[in-house]
Amino acid sequence: MDSVNASYVARDLAHVWHPCTQMKDHEQLPPIPIRRGSGVWLEDFEGKRYLDAVSSWWVNLFGHANPRINAAVREQLESLEQVILAGFTHEPVIALSEELTAAAPAGLTRCFYADNGSSAVEVAVKMSFHYWRNVGRARKRRFITLANSYHGETLGALAVGNVQLYKEIYQPLLMDVITVASPDCFARAPGQSWAEYSTAQFAYMERALECHAHEASAVIVEPLVQCAGGMRMYDPVYLTLLREACDRHQVHLIADEIAVGFGRTGTLFACEQAGITPDFMCLSKGLTGGYLPLSAVLTNETVYAAFYDDYVKLNAFLHSHSFTGNPLACAAARASLALFREDNVLARNQVLAAKMGARARELEHHPHVAEVRQRGMIVAIEFVRDKATGEPYPWQERRGLAIYRHALSRGVLLRPVGNVVYFMPPYVITPSEIDLMVDVAREGIDLATCA
Ligand SMILES: *Cc1c(COP(=O)(O)O)cnc(C)c1O
Repeated sequence: MDSVNASYVARDLAHVWHPCTQMKDHEQLPPIPIRRGSGVWLEDFEGKRYLDAVSSWWVNLFGHANPRINAAVREQLESLEQVILAGFTHEPVIALSEELTAAAPAGLTRCFYADNGSSAVEVAVKMSFHYWRNVGRARKRRFITLANSYHGETLGALAVGNVQLYKEIYQPLLMDVITVASPDCFARAPGQSWAEYSTAQFAYMERALECHAHEASAVIVEPLVQCAGGMRMYDPVYLTLLREACDRHQVHLIADEIAVGFGRTGTLFACEQAGITPDFMCLSKGLTGGYLPLSAVLTNETVYAAFYDDYVKLNAFLHSHSFTGNPLACAAARASLALFREDNVLARNQVLAAKMGARARELEHHPHVAEVRQRGMIVAIEFVRDKATGEPYPWQERRGLAIYRHALSRGVLLRPVGNVVYFMPPYVITPSEIDLMVDVAREGIDLATCA
């Protein structure tokens, strides 16, 4: 390795414990020190550049060092960096709440803030449980979740998720949940449409609601795309059916839009594609354009009213985080929302999405590609050992890692989830950068599946 990079790596490995990482892997592949970012590009200390095809873990929307978001954060920094949000308030959080509720599905009029996605999920879970208690239905305290879902890493969020790689070890620490088969269309039969498959899979959810409505607080889902579960996708009809069934059974619906929100699926929020309003909508990641940690849980007047009472009744939601509603993060979020409004982003993304999809679908004929799937600005390529039977490569072979390494050597940051290569780039990517990203992914898949 180059000397300047190497000195950072040595210092890093002496003290930094990296997230979601077997640190021993760094003996083979050291972490890459980044000195600056610009648009879709990250640059290391030797000047080597990497196209950030995963939006730095799905957070970045408008490129690194976006001039307009930079300016908004800088301006906010001059007046107020942080203030307690209990008993006090500030303009960025007021205006952001106005803007979020105006942009969200109708009926979501109240915003509660936290500072990361997992905490937002904890807030929604606690609020739903507490709502039923406040209205005299304390038996409703269980949660229904989908197989292969992901909602974060804190214990409550981990409990309502279902990716075993992250969950299994901690099972003794986790609350018990009701897990229902996923509408994930990768499992559909040949010739079956997404809508048909997702509709058929809804029977499992209907049955779970029938059995458990009396004790169920909420159903939690990732609308349209189960991202950490391998970018598995399903049809909006499932959400329409789920909204209707949750109403009928008097169970809350929590939409975890932490990854899919802010245009990733083509609409500002994924729920829009089903024409539904959830009872709770969790937002984070792209909320600040990927600049600063912030999350929000949006809910409705009915939920809000159930907590609104004399203090001595002890019905209030006494939950807080030190940095709840941080002004700098709110300013970044407002600048990001302004970009959506002013730059016609969703319409422009349709052109980029069409290009990404068309290029990626060239891989459908690859002998080891089982499926190329897309929802808006998320495109996934699932590779398999046997295309005829769909038999996957054993996870121990870590073929995705070979693709990751190849892509790095070619100046692209791809980070496959298991046997799924995906693209979730910032919205400032250009058509020629899309070509590079897909070409490098194809080379990587060729390399990883040749033997
Ligand atoms: C990333 C993610 C979370 C957790 O957010 P963190 O900020 O990483 O805690 C929760 N739900 C979904 C769908 C996510 O993709």
